[in-house]
Amino acid sequence: MRYKGPIYRPPSEANSLLIQATIGCPHNKCTFCMVYKNGPRFMVRDVAEIKEDILKASEIYGQKVRTVFLPAGNTIAMKTDDLCEIITFVKKVFKRLERVTVYGSSQYIHKKGLQGLKRLADAGLSRIHVGLESGDDVILKRIKKGTFSQEQIEAGKWVINAGIELSLYVILGIGGKDRTIPHARETARVLNHIEPDFIRLRTFVPKINTPILDEIQDGSFEMLTPHEVLQETALLIKNIQVSSCLTSDHYTNYINLEGRLPESKNRLLEKINGALKKDEKSFRPFFIGTE
Ligand code: SF4
Repeated sequence: MRYKGPIYRPPSEANSLLIQATIGCPHNKCTFCMVYKNGPRFMVRDVAEIKEDILKASEIYGQKVRTVFLPAGNTIAMKTDDLCEIITFVKKVFKRLERVTVYGSSQYIHKKGLQGLKRLADAGLSRIHVGLESGDDVILKRIKKGTFSQEQIEAGKWVINAGIELSLYVILGIGGKDRTIPHARETARVLNHIEPDFIRLRTFVPKINTPILDEIQDGSFEMLTPHEVLQETALLIKNIQVSSCLTSDHYTNYINLEGRLPESKNRLLEKINGALKKDEKSFRPFFIGTE
């Protein structure tokens, strides 16, 4: 198999075979993201080459492969015909495949429309991992996410209506001190409209070579303290009314929260209240991420 540029995958795809379908990210403007800031530029790999890699992987792993993730940052942006062809092929080669997943931002999902998503579902796309980050339009504009809440809602609903699982990632603290309450409320509002299968929490950690780190250093972005992040998390969870699986499977979080909503809501809020009684110094220290 051949790989080019940074290869990231969600923690839940740790055991998946990684077959690179695209290189880089076609958006590459989010102010908090360093992944592709130094390139390479976005490219879609040649379908014939991707198929060669799939065949190579089958020589190595045989029929052991159960899940496949197709990096890189926004593989959903590939032409629908090409993505369908790859998914169909990978399913033909690995006969015991249970899941095929990609990363996709709402604006590129939205471009597919419900019909395009249904075609991908028919081909065998099982799940899309989407960086929602926030449901607050002020924050989405500030962080240059390239989408807004209405588009996120439409795209998310189409994914679910097409029969594809939806995993939405929320960044706690991404609104800073001045947007913490709108961030929690508006994100819950968007989640309530979409009712995703998974809500995955990450806590904002500034990364080197990112515009948001410059904002922190010049004082225009004020980061939340650990207690403020926990308060924001509690407000978010209180306002989520739909059924979804909430997890915080990430090293950036101050506490681990896992549970099905709404059944686990009280237990999760009690856990947050317990953590709020601890001294802030007992949580992980502030750090600047390098990868
Ligand atoms: S869409 Fe994703 S990969 Fe692309 S710049 Fe934003 S966070 Fe980074």
